[in-house]
Amino acid sequence: MTVTDLVSYEDALAAYDPVMGLEVHVELGTKTKMFCGCSTALGADANAQTCPTCLGLPGSLPVVNATGVESAIKIGLALNCKIADWCRFARKNYFYPDMPKNFQTSQYDEPIAFDGYLDVQLEDGEVFRVHIERAHMEEDTGKSTHVGGATGRIHGARHSLLDYNRAGIPLIEIVTKPIEGAGERAPEVAKAYVAELRELIKALGVSEARMEQGQMRCDVNLSLRPNGTEKFGTRSETKNVNSLRSVERACRFEIQRHAAVLSSGGTIVQETRHFHEEDGSTTPGRIKEEAEDYRYFPEPDLVPVAPSREWVEELRATLPELPRLRRNRLREEWGVSEHDMQSILNAGAVDLIVATVEAGADAAAARKWWMGELARRANEDGIELAALPITPEQVARVAELVAKGDLNDKLARQVIEGVLAGEGTPDEVVEKRGLKVVSDEGALGTAVDEAIAANAAIADKIRGGKVAAAGALVGAVMKATRGQADAARVRELILEKLGVEG
Ligand code: ADP
Ligand code: MG
Ligand code: ZN
Repeated sequence: MTVTDLVSYEDALAAYDPVMGLEVHVELGTKTKMFCGCSTALGADANAQTCPTCLGLPGSLPVVNATGVESAIKIGLALNCKIADWCRFARKNYFYPDMPKNFQTSQYDEPIAFDGYLDVQLEDGEVFRVHIERAHMEEDTGKSTHVGGATGRIHGARHSLLDYNRAGIPLIEIVTKPIEGAGERAPEVAKAYVAELRELIKALGVSEARMEQGQMRCDVNLSLRPNGTEKFGTRSETKNVNSLRSVERACRFEIQRHAAVLSSGGTIVQETRHFHEEDGSTTPGRIKEEAEDYRYFPEPDLVPVAPSREWVEELRATLPELPRLRRNRLREEWGVSEHDMQSILNAGAVDLIVATVEAGADAAAARKWWMGELARRANEDGIELAALPITPEQVARVAELVAKGDLNDKLARQVIEGVLAGEGTPDEVVEKRGLKVVSDEGALGTAVDEAIAANAAIADKIRGGKVAAAGALVGAVMKATRGQADAARVRELILEKLGVEG
């Protein structure tokens, strides 16, 4: 089906009610894998981080990574889930070359966390509750690279390469209950849910949850039912969607596609689908009409996981403030609109501004520098704001120098430029580049006298009452002082010397 076969979004929603299910996989940031001691660091040579256990060699035995379990419990608690008293891992049996054991160690009917919810805030401020079915522990597979085809997919490839460094890295899969009642806002709810979950995971410190690096990926299940009916329609499952924008687009596309199929009398096949960034479309993957039989059975080589209630309560006590509540608190403290707060969040500036304020800057100044000059530079360099070679402490120092009147904005921008260029701390850049507001009244007075003398005609106009003409003289003084004068003070001095009222 091509994009032209779609029903318009409005028409789709006029006839049908969307139901969604979101399955999110999060790769934990543990130092070692889930069931062996192999490193999880990125960038190693292919297959350098493997051992008999994660390669599934005969006789090898797995051991559970305690930090992995701890992270899973923290995620479960933050999602308001119940934490199992006792649960087991299970073998999910299937063959694929990226999985050398021929089974994935996962959890089946005994997840570590279940029955929770996450409240997400929509753009208009409304809070939508997404119910969580379960969060369970499992492991990642290796990575296949298909060589020789045009698309990088297995079809048409000549051979495939396998890298098992990722095999066995801990994953937490978080599955929602069917999300009903979102209506036309279903794509927005899906995006807001994944965004909120990502913020939560980051706040818990259990993963960096970088979607672009595959540390967090989402399967979008979607079905439509005729408006006013109860029974769920057949769902499609768009796999491995890896950006917030794509989650929203995939959901929107599937609504329009399902509506097109259903309204022309067709039936939706239960299948997985691939999402395409280029045009936001999806294409069929595997048919999934009957539940696959993975022959799940309890993992005999691992002891059950039985977290004590004391431990669970200890972990509960370490939970950070929920990102949504923290954002609302900061928004009030900073006195910014919902919209501005959203931009700050999108720019990845929340924590940077918080740290800059903690280092002594006032919130408005911190926001101004991070969202202005620094955001522009990060954008130019194609890097994240946090990756700029300047610290919140340094930004706070620049703001302090401006507040004290030692720098004006123009000079402050030069200081920031110097810090980014590796010329040292703000004070060192000020020193080296000789960037200080000329506040020496004597020097300033001389510069003003010179400007008046050099621009006699303008000076006369000002004396005659045309105060607006003072701008030209201010400009001349600023030029003469290489921008290092306090423009407001210069203006005062000019008017004073010419004997007119400002
Ligand atoms: P599978 O393993 O086949 O992906 P899961 O039960 O793990 O099945 O996940 C299915 C997801 O889709 C869950 O989030 C579930 O709530 C949701 N879901 C189930 N049925 C429907 C449906 N008819 N329409 C939309 N979402 C659904
Ligand atoms: Mg699924
Ligand atoms: Zn290993």
